[in-house]
Amino acid sequence: MSNNISITKVKKSKVDALDFNNIPLGTTFTDHMFVCDYEQGQWINPRIEPLQPIATHPAAMALHYGQAIFEGMKATVDQHGNPMLFRPQKNAERLNFSADRMGMPDFPEKLFVEGLKQLVALEKNWIPPQDGSALYLRPFMYADEPFIGMRAATHYKFIIIASPAGPFFSKRIKLWAEKKYIRAVAGGTGEAKAAGNYAAAIRPTELAKAKGYDQVLWLDAIEHKYIQEVGTMNIFFKINGKIITPGRDGAILDGITRISVMELLKSKGFEVIERPISIDEIKEASKNGTLEEAFGTGTAVGIAYIQEIGLNGHVIHVSNESPVGLDINNTLNAIKTGKIKDTFHWMVKVN
Ligand code: PMP
Repeated sequence: MSNNISITKVKKSKVDALDFNNIPLGTTFTDHMFVCDYEQGQWINPRIEPLQPIATHPAAMALHYGQAIFEGMKATVDQHGNPMLFRPQKNAERLNFSADRMGMPDFPEKLFVEGLKQLVALEKNWIPPQDGSALYLRPFMYADEPFIGMRAATHYKFIIIASPAGPFFSKRIKLWAEKKYIRAVAGGTGEAKAAGNYAAAIRPTELAKAKGYDQVLWLDAIEHKYIQEVGTMNIFFKINGKIITPGRDGAILDGITRISVMELLKSKGFEVIERPISIDEIKEASKNGTLEEAFGTGTAVGIAYIQEIGLNGHVIHVSNESPVGLDINNTLNAIKTGKIKDTFHWMVKVN
């Protein structure tokens, strides 16, 4: 297919109406979106057009059978105001991993990155320049074929929308270790960024919040014992000077922040171990004083410091300070804003 992206611009941008010091989370969208259609085995008509509602047939298969996947990433500006993307190739690869699991077509990776670049270049005035702020990008794909029946759809849409996000101040979070509901099991869809995974997490998250917790700590589906991830983040522990994170077991999402944090930690001389971690091990480490830090990692917040974990009838205290987590968060933010040299070559300029 051709990578030629046609562009139809809005007559007047809405960016002037945005108060950059007070950006409402997730409700403001930029002027344009990138759209591409899948028909007869091909992606066709890649285009950037004014953001607008899309007419959907009531039998569109995504609404019934849930073939819907997405990505989450951010564009930032460097010290000279040049827009940049953080490891977009990784998102392109993960989207196609998700597509494969959900019986959906691959999206050409080159076009994924090119679509992002052109959209971000066009919307560069929407990128909030403050530290920790970014333009959140949401690429997604769904089945829009009108059909009642259980099979892979033959028509899909791939779209990228963008939403400015103000600075996120990481507060310490409290987790509820969930033993009744599970997020994912090896062989299921947990490794895919499938919309249905998030639907299934909503009720347990609401219940955890009603108990006074911020996020769910997801445990394995079989023994309800091994830690998988937290809310929509991967998780790291520092025990006795070593950094430990659950390995990919077929159920956790392969976070792009997770792999980047592992690379950063190694470059700073830490030993990083990927292995199963049980909630009992964390309880014991907290009791004997070897649990030094715990933090979540994800695109939305960067690093979220964990204060405590609630378990049926028990509270695991973590720590009030996360020097390693804080240092990693600062380093990541400095790379994303061009304040320090990107020795990892993670940042990709959009033009
Ligand atoms: N786990 C889940 C379930 C997620 O939704 C996310 C957010 N994409 C992550 C982990 C973190 O992934 P990333 O670092 O790529 O944002």
